[in-house]
Amino acid sequence: MASNTNKTNTSRVAEMMRSQKDREGTYRERALKLYPWICGHCCREFTSKNLRELTVHHKDHNHDNNPPDGTNWELLCIYCHDNEHSRDQVADAYDTTSSAKSSDSDSDNDFTDNPFAGLSNLIKD
Ligand SMILES: [Zn+2]
Ligand SMILES: [Zn+2]
Repeated sequence: MASNTNKTNTSRVAEMMRSQKDREGTYRERALKLYPWICGHCCREFTSKNLRELTVHHKDHNHDNNPPDGTNWELLCIYCHDNEHSRDQVADAYDTTSSAKSSDSDSDNDFTDNPFAGLSNLIKD
């Protein structure tokens, strides 16, 4: 008779996991809806096939600053995004707020000179 309880618990966990994933992906999805899929620096165009290479950059380097109008976001391909961060590594070094997160589109500070290192990172994610 009490068989419903187990089922409820299981779906609760699944729901929690899903909402965590949602939260991580939210600003990226919102940014992709808001802006055309074009790198803001090199103007490369993206489709759903290579959209993984298009990342959301936070203009003030604060990943928690996600205004709904998208004013803190800039869509950049992974190469331009890497450039953007290596130009301004100091600002990123002080960004500790999101270091606990596994690897979202903006956590690329261990890029090397090899651009494909970052690419495989993104694909894995
Ligand atoms: Zn670019
Ligand atoms: Zn960035």
